[in-house]
Amino acid sequence: QLSLRLKKVAEYLPQAAYFADIGSDHAYLPCYVCLHDRHARAVAGEVNNGPYQSALKEVDTHQLNDQIDVRLGDGLDVLINNEVEQVVIAGMGGPLIRDILESGKDKLSSVSKIIVQPNIDARSIRRWFYDNQYQLVHEAILEENGHIYEVLAAEKGDPEHIYQQESFEKQLWLGPWLMKERSPVFRKKWKEEKSKKERIVHQIRCSKQPDEKKIQLFQKELVWLKEVLE
Ligand code: SAM
Repeated sequence: QLSLRLKKVAEYLPQAAYFADIGSDHAYLPCYVCLHDRHARAVAGEVNNGPYQSALKEVDTHQLNDQIDVRLGDGLDVLINNEVEQVVIAGMGGPLIRDILESGKDKLSSVSKIIVQPNIDARSIRRWFYDNQYQLVHEAILEENGHIYEVLAAEKGDPEHIYQQESFEKQLWLGPWLMKERSPVFRKKWKEEKSKKERIVHQIRCSKQPDEKKIQLFQKELVWLKEVLE
């Protein structure tokens, strides 16, 4: 049974997708997609041999070798130019996902959609999308096994109109679509984050040499959190 998190990623792929799943581990996502859609094709990329072997095995078990190509290599290096149309990178930290996208930029010319599921720091990827002309088209937030996950999908296009100049940083941090929706899971995540930040500000204030810059930054973020949690 595929995790809810990866099911949400799969939902954002089109029919007859031709996608790369970078950091595929057991290749659960491409197997799920290709079993449900006989016209879908995928490249499952892995940098580590253990997960690469697991992916080969999983693809073999489902006899999906004609639809899924498992490749060993770093990030988008596994792709040849103008190959896949969508890229998925899930289950890693936001900065690592951003670095994989940044260092593989030359492989993205044929890619019209990127779907990511960062475990932490989605902000760094929203910023990368913004700087690289990918428009955020969907955001989801969900809870599974006590963890809260964000899934973002972006398509090639002008990212400007999604953001308002005066709230740009706040939207990058919290997610423009998630902020509009303010779902119960969104509220839960940021309520917990707010309490954490309040505790940290208190700790910094009580220290011998309080870092005023840090306090100011956190206080700005606390104001944003109060606004969205109202
Ligand atoms: N994508 C799957 C998921 O969401 O369940 C697996 C996530 S797993 C936590 C992260 C996987 O990414 C690991 O199997 C790791 O070997 C792989 N990985 C990490 N850095 C990578 C890179 N630069 N290129 C390809 N794979 C990478």
